Amino acid sequence: MGKYEHLYVAIEHEEGKPIPVSLEMLGEARRLMDDYNRRYSASEKVVAVVLGHGVRRLCEELLFYGADAVIYADSPELVHPRNLVDTKVISSIATDRNLVLKFSPGSADFVKPRYMFFAADNIGRQLSSTVMAELESGLASDINKLVISDLEIKHEHKTKGQAMVYERTLEMYRPDFSGFLWTTILCLDNRNPAIARDYHPQACSIIPGVFAPIERDESRKGVIVDYSPTFDPQDLKVRVLSRTIVKSRVDFDSKKAIVSFGRGIKDSPEADIRLAADLARELGAEVGVSLPISKKPFPVSESISSEYMTPDRVIGTSGRKVTPLLYVAAGISGAMHHLAGMKESEFVVAINPDEGAPIKDECDVFIRGRMEDVIPALIEELRATKPAAAKEVAARK
Ligand SMILES: Cc1cc2nc3c(=O)[nH]c(=O)nc-3n(C[C@H](O)[C@H](O)[C@H](O)COP(=O)(O)OP(=O)(O)OC[C@H]3O[C@@H](n4cnc5c(N)ncnc54)[C@H](O)[C@@H]3O)c2cc1C
Repeated sequence: MGKYEHLYVAIEHEEGKPIPVSLEMLGEARRLMDDYNRRYSASEKVVAVVLGHGVRRLCEELLFYGADAVIYADSPELVHPRNLVDTKVISSIATDRNLVLKFSPGSADFVKPRYMFFAADNIGRQLSSTVMAELESGLASDINKLVISDLEIKHEHKTKGQAMVYERTLEMYRPDFSGFLWTTILCLDNRNPAIARDYHPQACSIIPGVFAPIERDESRKGVIVDYSPTFDPQDLKVRVLSRTIVKSRVDFDSKKAIVSFGRGIKDSPEADIRLAADLARELGAEVGVSLPISKKPFPVSESISSEYMTPDRVIGTSGRKVTPLLYVAAGISGAMHHLAGMKESEFVVAINPDEGAPIKDECDVFIRGRMEDVIPALIEELRATKPAAAKEVAARK
């Protein structure tokens, strides 16, 4: 047994209910470690880390979803996520050998986890960076594929130019350049004697929606370990005085259709947004946008900007995941980050002049053309067919 062992997963939850990405991370952790233990004849664990208050029931649930062990810190101070205090507690848990010995008695040399996962959402992205700074290791953010392998590396600085095998390396893949290229990120120890130092855990934040949870299995057994956190006044200097959950005006859940637009509006932004909104009205649909639109990249009137160019309309890994019966993507290229939010839509129509746009591979109907030309024709057709359809329904009654 070595200094670095086990895969830790930082769990996020809403009042004791795990958010979907937490179970997705556990599912991928389970698959990776089952394969790892088989290949390396090891018995390293998937360890869920939970902070909260009154979360014991959640810990049991996490065992059913693939954790071998759950370490939980229970305190009224941990009811709501707060980066400063959460960083401290998770970092302390990750370096506490006594906790590990409760579920892995052979881990007498344990120093830190071998691998660590966080969610690539607003909370997890920040938490992952501060925890990894605390643990003095590196971090790959927004990952959507993971492989563990033995790699031969020859690097001017890391290995002083010598070819060396790095065993059990976590290859962390992320979509880059607007999601059209993949980058593989490795977190490798420096083996060059002049700058030697270790980089563990090998850690990443994981894009919500890309991995599947394993099937819930109540017969799965594991160990639940209670950790008692201690706080300095300094840790608690950020206080939550009140908390309101603001309900979004945007309704992606009850609407059966969504019309989304992206940077394809660039030639006539104001008019194109009005077109997309008109089409949505005809279809009884909600309006969605790609992430760049929420950054207000084009000048439009204040009323259009505040109504449509808003973060709560973003679909994708940084926004909402949606599953409507009909998804219309107008002027959206189909970057991986956007696809992750809409690929489970029942029927997808894309409007785009570029047949090489990746959205073409993800849609049921691809309309090659500019939205300025296509949407008015669609609206006209809808208006023409609506009375006929209504008459048909009336006749059937
Ligand atoms: C960490 C991270 C997280 C991200 N999260 C998200 C996310 O949650 N959601 C998201 O959407 N993106 C996200 N992105 C950004 C993502 O990678 C893409 O950059 C973005 O989705 C591209 O937006 P787009 O399709 O609107 O623009 P572009 O990629 O610029 O595509 C515009 C499309 O419009 C077409 N077009 C041009 N003129 C017209 C016209 N007249 N009519 C019709 N079509 C036209 C073009 O052919 C092109 O295909 C994220 C990126 C990172 C790095």
